[in-house]
Formats: sequence, C-alpha cells, structure tokens
Amino acid sequence: MKVAPELRELYQEMIVDHGRRPRNLRRLERATCRAEGFNPLCGDRVTVYLDCNDGVIREATFEGQGCAISMASASMMTEAIKGKKREEVERMFDAFHRLLTEENAEAPAELGKLKVFAGVREFPSRVKCAVLAWHTLKAALAGEREPVSTE
Ligand code: ZN
Repeated sequence: MKVAPELRELYQEMIVDHGRRPRNLRRLERATCRAEGFNPLCGDRVTVYLDCNDGVIREATFEGQGCAISMASASMMTEAIKGKKREEVERMFDAFHRLLTEENAEAPAELGKLKVFAGVREFPSRVKCAVLAWHTLKAALAGEREPVSTE
C-alpha cells in the first residue's frame, strides 16, 4: 500500500481540482458509441460518450453524478484517451487497473497524469469509484447495450 508522500499530495490536489471542475462533462450528440456504468457501492453513475473513427478516439465526454473520485477519474480519463488508438486505450485500461489494485505496481509512461490514482490504493473501498469510468469506457468500445456495474 506504499504511496510516496508527494504522490499522495498530488493525488489529493487532482481529485479536488477535477472533482470540482470536471473536464468534458457534457453529452456528445455525435457519439459513435456510448455506455452507462453504475457503482452500487457508492452510488456513482456515469455515461461515457465516444466519437471513434478508424479506430481512433476523436472525442470523449461523459455525464454523471457521484463522488469526487468517480468524477475526477472520468474527467481525467476523457482527457487522457482523446486522440488515442483503441489498442492504446485498452492497454491504458489494463495498466490503470493494475496500478490501483496491485501493490507496488509501477505506472507506465503512457498513463501520464493518471499515475496519481496510485493514491487510491490507500483507500481500497474507493477503487471501484476510480475504475467505474474505465469499465464504462470498455463497455462503450465493446458496443455493450446493457449498463455495466462494478459489482
Ligand atoms: Zn464513489
């Protein structure tokens, strides 16, 4: 569960900043795929909208309601995946998931700012808040129609 103090501080700053002023928080009318996700443990809900073209995510937005961690995660995720290829995003999902759930997992460079979410490891009950947007993203890419749940 060790998280460096400076990373912990940065984590808290980012969560507060993105939780208060989420980026890309809007419906995307031209979305080519979308999915809804729900985290029953905390009550977080998120809908992810993607505009994918030729396997590249041109635009990513979300709508939702939930705790600061879930909103900050969705906000930072939509920023991080914009312009990325589908395969890159799938690799990011795996790396992000490992970072949050495996002790001493290192963040690969491609995660960029998302590495601050290692801070969630100290709060295991919040991991589902942080991964909700990512599970929803995966469902959107897979074209799933049923809402996904973290449970
Ligand atoms: Zn939550």
